[in-house]
Amino acid sequence: MSRLVVISNRVAVPEARGAAGAQGGLAGALNAALREKGGVWFGWSGQECARFTGTIDRQVSEDGVVTATIDLEPQDIEEYYNGYANSTLWPLFHYRIDLTEYEREYGKGYERVNDLFAESVRPLIEPGDVVWVHDYHFMPLGERLRQRGVRNRLGFFLHIPWPPANLFVSLPYHERLVRSLLCYDLLGFQNNVWLESFLHYCETQLGAEVDRETGEITYEGRSVIARAYPIGIDYEQFMEKGSCGEARQAQQRLESSTRHRTAMIGVDRLDYSKGLPERLDGIARFFERYPDRVRELVFVQIAPPSREDIGSYQNIRETLERKTGRINGVYADVDMTPIRYVNKGYPQEELFGLYRGAKIGLVTPLRDGMNLVAKEYVAAQDPDDPGVLILSRFAGAAEQMPDALLVNPHSSDELAHAIREALDMPLAERKARYTKLIETVRNDNVQRWTDNFIGHLRRI
Ligand code: UDP
Repeated sequence: MSRLVVISNRVAVPEARGAAGAQGGLAGALNAALREKGGVWFGWSGQECARFTGTIDRQVSEDGVVTATIDLEPQDIEEYYNGYANSTLWPLFHYRIDLTEYEREYGKGYERVNDLFAESVRPLIEPGDVVWVHDYHFMPLGERLRQRGVRNRLGFFLHIPWPPANLFVSLPYHERLVRSLLCYDLLGFQNNVWLESFLHYCETQLGAEVDRETGEITYEGRSVIARAYPIGIDYEQFMEKGSCGEARQAQQRLESSTRHRTAMIGVDRLDYSKGLPERLDGIARFFERYPDRVRELVFVQIAPPSREDIGSYQNIRETLERKTGRINGVYADVDMTPIRYVNKGYPQEELFGLYRGAKIGLVTPLRDGMNLVAKEYVAAQDPDDPGVLILSRFAGAAEQMPDALLVNPHSSDELAHAIREALDMPLAERKARYTKLIETVRNDNVQRWTDNFIGHLRRI
């Protein structure tokens, strides 16, 4: 069987130096695929070096997975990672054209690092290997590999949304970026909405031919398949985590500190795409509308800081502190605080317990590629007394989870109404919704996602 070469910005390195490498369900699934098929996982070490040398740090994990990483220069990190990837593509692809920075230097840095990556990984690719590139950091990488003579099967998966064509065209050189994507053999998107935006762009802007049945895009004499492959959680592993002592303790801590009140939980990286200020506005609206129910609810927001070097991330943090302070100032009493805003991260064992102890899960991104927290919340519920998931209709996960309470995250009224509906939902309805939701969470898991994508890439 052909080997697998995975390329992503960060890599789950056995002995990560300094900052932690990639973690969680995706890392686990890619590791499992690599273990089974053999091959190598290539990416940035997360470290900087004074001058780029191209030296590859090769490590082998206990279970035989080979990782290979390179260090990058400070200027590359600034322009490629903080710049083009996270200040240009990330906001634009989450429909935040107002936050998008179009700096020429960022674009150049992005191209330069994609070339460095292609040059460095090229010698690691053997004939017959299947190459799987991940995410918005490396859209042009397939093209750069082709330019270096790589003829292997090349697949690309985008973990974030694809924006509508009329937003995407605000990106300088947008055509060049998409043409480079068409050099892959298989393109994967999280759901049909993002896929359709991409196909629509190819048709209307490039004049490519698109077959909606097969997802085949034909352009300038070559063809590529584009499809939706919704990612899932590592269900088995997550359930195992839920059965440990840390999970139970976290659940008890939450329950004993919220007695006689219903805990509602949000878990999100501190990112403007997650709709956190709008969420707080919705909660404030609930308190305004139903003042006699203020004491029924306690909202716990876990929000670990993220990308703190970038200005827009510093702003969101200040906004949230202000809003939380204002709501607590108005609605707190000597014996209770309606909002617990926690600016740190928790291991998934503890998250499991917190999800289970919270009778409402509030997942309301303004835009999200998928959103795994929504799936984890459902997985952690007690089947005999499940909580209610309130989910943004603009999260990629909404397509697979129509049995959640779907809301428009921009509307405070809708959020307030959904919170009331969740608080009052009878057990029979909660169970009926949970039964449907857990089916997709259990079955459409991360293993199925890797198998589907890699299987398809092999068959093309
Ligand atoms: N997560 C975590 N600890 C935290 C907060 C989040 O381990 O304190 C994990 C969470 O369990 C989930 C992931 O981070 O698996 C977040 O994934 P999601 O798709 O929801 O959002 P992203 O951060 O990738 O945009």
